[in-house]
Amino acid sequence: MSTRYCCPNCKTNRSRFNIIEQTAHAVKLDPQTGEVMERFENSEDPGPLHTLYQGPERRIQCAVCGLIENELMFIKFADK
Ligand SMILES: [Zn+2]
Repeated sequence: MSTRYCCPNCKTNRSRFNIIEQTAHAVKLDPQTGEVMERFENSEDPGPLHTLYQGPERRIQCAVCGLIENELMFIKFADK
């Protein structure tokens, strides 16, 4: 289950990348101090006013030109 990447910017790099794992933590801060008042675990519901992170799990940086994009961009380009 390997995935091929190709950088859509420099178009030549297919081997050197930085994989950035994105982990969102839902928190509630004290508006005055910025202190974390509550930290919600994965299964916990932070309530109807709190929009949960829907973004991609990982982003990729091309280690040649430095472009950071969603993984899908690199996967799509690898098939061209
Ligand atoms: Zn690149």
